[in-house]
Amino acid sequence: LVSREIYPHDTVIPIGNTPVGGDDFTIMAGPCAIESYDQLLETAKQVKASGATVLRGGAFKPRTSPYSFQGLGLEGLKIMQQVGQEVGMDTITEIMDINDLDDIATHVSAFQIGARNMQNYTLLKAVGETKHPVLLKRGLSATIEELLLAAEYIVATGNPNVMICERGIRTFETATRNTLDLNAVAFIKEKSHLPVIVDPSHGTGVRTLVSPMAKAGVACGADGLIIESHRNPRESVSDAAQALSADDFSQLMQQLVPFIKAS
Ligand code: PEP
Ligand code: MN
Repeated sequence: LVSREIYPHDTVIPIGNTPVGGDDFTIMAGPCAIESYDQLLETAKQVKASGATVLRGGAFKPRTSPYSFQGLGLEGLKIMQQVGQEVGMDTITEIMDINDLDDIATHVSAFQIGARNMQNYTLLKAVGETKHPVLLKRGLSATIEELLLAAEYIVATGNPNVMICERGIRTFETATRNTLDLNAVAFIKEKSHLPVIVDPSHGTGVRTLVSPMAKAGVACGADGLIIESHRNPRESVSDAAQALSADDFSQLMQQLVPFIKAS
């Protein structure tokens, strides 16, 4: 169902009022984690002013260490809904547990399935039973075939609103956090009609590399970007090393314009 052989035309998926795919180019941005109302509101205003239309932010965080900040949970979802309405942005947040599905669907415009859950088939089927848009991130060590089959799970269960996200994979290279596989973007655009979003933040893990790889993502045919930005990057409770300041984010958005026009 996700193959271009079956549906040759680009699928356009609405996240609230934001179309993703086809002729549109979508910028999703915000902090890695929702830390407080003030933090999310300030970041949302900043990224919206620079051109983002979808606000990202985690309320349920899949942290490598159990001692790291795990997210604000339901309180975070409420903050996200309020900030989204106040600022006028659509919203996306990660779902880790099927028990949170209704809470997330009522407060936030789209689900994100994180890299660590790409092959959580119970979760894929659960979001497949809704019509809520889903951003499916590539697993840490998942092949493109496995990624497309994970997308197929969601669509086959009944939800056609799936976007695929290349967020870097684990390779022998350790200089960067992950290796952003832009081959996958061009390959998936050829094989599938689903929109493809590039995440240069997790793809590199390095603040200064986010901008060049964002441009590369546009150039190779992505339908949008998801970027982590924080009002005070060094104070970010998670993924501080890859968060862009408001100024860095604004500069990147200006630099992206010619790339978006050209592609
Ligand atoms: C995130 O978006 O903050 C995140 C945890 O991403 P990933 O699942 O790609 O690691
Ligand atoms: Mn993150």
